[in-house]
Order: sequence, then structure tokens, then C-alpha cells
Amino acid sequence: MSIREILDTEFEQECDSCGAIRTIADGDVTVGIEREGQVDPKVIPLPPCQNCGATEFLLRSADDEKEHSSPGCFGHRHRLMVDVLHTKLVKLGQVTDGIDPKKAQGHEHHKKELDKWFKEGMKIRRPKENPEENKEEPSPKIIQPSEEPHE
Ligand SMILES: [Zn+2]
Repeated sequence: MSIREILDTEFEQECDSCGAIRTIADGDVTVGIEREGQVDPKVIPLPPCQNCGATEFLLRSADDEKEHSSPGCFGHRHRLMVDVLHTKLVKLGQVTDGIDPKKAQGHEHHKKELDKWFKEGMKIRRPKENPEENKEEPSPKIIQPSEEPHE
């Protein structure tokens, strides 16, 4: 359940099950899913992965969502990405029948807030499991001569 980048008319998603990366057009997704007779406007169901068939859902933050406990972490930034995508889809009219777009829209983040966390545009990469690989610019290893010249 993760998106990597929001583009003009599409977005990039990474499949949680198989790791496949694909681009999904905004027009191919619809906000809202019916559950127990009610439509939940916070959910964005994604089309099944073409590679493994997994279906994933994106969930935007609740209207009364509290400040994130660790702002700047992957979870926080990903949530912001989902909120931005959600708002965009609602504005495009990509909503399930029976949803009031005004109610569906939810919390819209200010550009200033987004700029703070997304300096290079709406783009995010899942952190690698090995924290060593997360360093953006690993310092080059200084290779010492294995043997000192003997006199
Ligand atoms: Zn997959």
C-alpha cells in the first residue's frame, strides 16, 4: 500500500506483495468503497496488480486526524501523499456514486506544509530495510593500503 509519486494525470504505485512498480492513471481510480451498506469516502481502492493480482487500498487521514507523532517519517509523508491524491481525485470528480464530494474531500493540506516535506515535488521512496542503505550520500570508503612498506 504505497504510492511513490504523484504526476500530472497519473501516479506511481509500488505493489506491497510483489514489489512491482506501475503507473495508474487518475481516471482509472475512484474514491470511496462500499462497506456494510455505507460508502466510505476515505478509501481509494486501486486496480489489481497486473503482476500478482493483489488489490490494495489507500486510506486518507481522518477529518480529526491528530498531528503525526513523528513528522517527516515515511508514514507521515506517505499519508500526506495519499491526502493530496485523494483531494485531487475528488476535485476531478472521480468519486463513487452516492458520495457527496464536499464531504469526501476532507482535510486539504496547504502548499506551504507540503513544500516543507516534499522539497522535490510529490515524491517518496520507501525506506530500505537496511538503514545503512538509507544514507543519501554514503561517504566513500577510504581504502588503506593493507601493508605498510617495510624498511
Ligand atoms: Zn503485485
